[in-house]
Amino acid sequence: MDSENIYTEIVMEHGLNSPYKKSIENENICSIGHNPNCGDKITLHALVEDGVIKDMSFSGSGCAISQGSTSVMIQTLIGKDVATARSIISSFLKLIKREDVSDEEREMLHDALAFENVSSMPSRAKCATLSWHTLEEMLDKLEQ
Ligand SMILES: [Zn+2]
Repeated sequence: MDSENIYTEIVMEHGLNSPYKKSIENENICSIGHNPNCGDKITLHALVEDGVIKDMSFSGSGCAISQGSTSVMIQTLIGKDVATARSIISSFLKLIKREDVSDEEREMLHDALAFENVSSMPSRAKCATLSWHTLEEMLDKLEQ
């Protein structure tokens, strides 16, 4: 299997059958993201305590790319402190914008690198970045 297929598999697996599409206990913040171009509508639910993302899940509907990207984002960021989460979010947004991403950033992105190919499909880029932008706004709200 070449690397492109492995990545497609990560996207599809998370997109169609995400372990994070559920409700969580004790959520203390949520935020809704909407991508009218595709009809994706995702709600993020999180428990952020002592500056750490203790738990996160999502609900809503949308295409496999938006759901898969949300699921991989949650997998990548659970347990991270807010500052680290923010830096991973900005690395992901750079990746999709085809800007330079360092080896260190790629390591932190881990499975989220699966979405690198999406950067060549501008119409799908909004699907892939929807939940990342939504989480960024949610963390902004938290710090106000
Ligand atoms: Zn979409």
